[in-house]
Amino acid sequence: MRIGLILGDQLSLSLATLRVLDPQHDVLIMAEVADETAYVPHHKQKIALIFSAMRHFAHELRSAGWRVCYHQWQPDSPFKSLLDVVQYYQQTLAQQPGTSVESLVITRCGEYRLQHAINNEWSARLQLAVTVFEDDRFICPPGWFRQWSRDRKQLRMEFFYREMRRLTGLLMLNGRPVGNEWNLDHDNRKPWKGQPPLPAAPVAQTDPLDEEVLALVERDFGHHPGQLRPFLWPTTRTAALAELQRFIEQRLPWYGDFQDAMVSGEDFLFHSRLSAAINIGLLEPLEVCQAAEQAWQQGQAPLNAVEGFIRQIIGWREYVREIYWLQMPDYSGLNGLGYQRPLPRYYWDGKTDMHCMSECFRTTFNNAWAHHIQRLMITGNFALLAGIRPADICDWYLAVYADAFDWVELPNTLGMVMHADGGYLGSKPYAASGQYINRMSDYCKHCQYNVKTAAEHNSCPFNSLYWHFIETNRPHFVGNPRMTMIYKSLERQNDEQRQRIQARAHELLARLDDL
Ligand code: FAD
Ligand code: SF4
Repeated sequence: MRIGLILGDQLSLSLATLRVLDPQHDVLIMAEVADETAYVPHHKQKIALIFSAMRHFAHELRSAGWRVCYHQWQPDSPFKSLLDVVQYYQQTLAQQPGTSVESLVITRCGEYRLQHAINNEWSARLQLAVTVFEDDRFICPPGWFRQWSRDRKQLRMEFFYREMRRLTGLLMLNGRPVGNEWNLDHDNRKPWKGQPPLPAAPVAQTDPLDEEVLALVERDFGHHPGQLRPFLWPTTRTAALAELQRFIEQRLPWYGDFQDAMVSGEDFLFHSRLSAAINIGLLEPLEVCQAAEQAWQQGQAPLNAVEGFIRQIIGWREYVREIYWLQMPDYSGLNGLGYQRPLPRYYWDGKTDMHCMSECFRTTFNNAWAHHIQRLMITGNFALLAGIRPADICDWYLAVYADAFDWVELPNTLGMVMHADGGYLGSKPYAASGQYINRMSDYCKHCQYNVKTAAEHNSCPFNSLYWHFIETNRPHFVGNPRMTMIYKSLERQNDEQRQRIQARAHELLARLDDL
């Protein structure tokens, strides 16, 4: 008999482990353990989502004829780690007459820490052969990226994305992109001013198994960040497919236009909220893209929306995963700008007078979710401008979002937001002043800071911190052709103006926790 370990983000019937093993002879193990819930203080909804989806998946596997050994969460369980649980079942199964456990089978996990331990320690500890299969739910074939990136000094997502379009055939016609343009991002930067009307907000549709898990999380993880309800996450493939369908019909047509827009009190706008379902395996990335492509083919959604959506998945999502596996373990320790400030208090309690930040914290703690521009251009941008230690901000993103897994969170935060990898992932830092936030949202209208000024006592913190960032990081960026205009603008500031802005930035940095 072989045993297969199924992790909390491997809830797909198409998983390599399930294709290799045989339900007639082999046994699956699934486990809810303390080590996986405690390495950062995960949002309550994230724990509930993963436990509930795992329990539903175990039912599905049993209905399909699999034998599943499932270790349910118990706060005082002697088994703290996945290895503890595997060891326990290995011994228990081996005691059954006529049974011997030959090997452990696993599909590559989403975190270097765990994969490294499996590769290097588990076989010896278990006295068992361990076979690891590649996770082919991802689109980019194993080894392809390493080869592609070999001779490139700097990688560009755009060129990788074009290769993924060719490989999948998505939005392609006779070897060319449909519409003759690969990337329609230039059409996708509109603020939302009340039209078109927003679709109805999602409603909680929990079943008894979800409720059982929600009660457990309330009881044992009540001290973790975030609100537990409303719990809006699909926890089965059927529910996730229904969410996909709702997105395609109600939100996709406007997804592109308002992809970067932010509005006070409106959390979801036209975004899909499918990231968690895709990341834990309830939906396959390719089927999600094909559903979007089909909507375009049937005239239900315009090309700029569909191309923009598909680019996020076969472009960014695949790209960051490849960078993660290519660069780990060194990647997680990078701090290219030498930042050392601890994460300000309000990242955990959400209380700040900066309205844009407080809105992003509100949706984060209420929904275990914020959309990309909120993560990148508000909470991330602020951390970049304020010089926050990359490890602190990475841990925060990993904790507070339901879709956060190391392979996707780390490159997005450390590389895209913090530029801590020296520009390996993105050629230019995503730094912006309050002007950008004012253009893309209504936040500044409701804020007690003044977005129009940079040096006065109530000036928007993003403004002075932006110029402070540009000035102090001059050695890193002055030679970057994509930053030339910015350094020209800096040169145009007169000495007095410049000194006042820098003084304001220093004053803010000295009391960062109080903003
Ligand atoms: P949509 O806007 O509807 O986009 C569609 C899909 O594209 C998403 O569901 C997701 O699967 C994919 N996608 C979009 N952007 C990215 C991206 N940059 N990287 C990878 N996939 C992407 N995404 C995660 O899934 N997990 C994370 O831990 C995570 N951490 C992030 C941290 C930071 C600092 C930033 C800036 C972004 C992070 N993202 C992460 C990417 C992105 O913000 C989320 O995928 C997106 O907000 C999820 O909402 P959605 O499903 O409505 O996305
Ligand atoms: Fe944010 Fe500044 Fe606008 Fe206030 S004024 S909402 S701090 S960008």
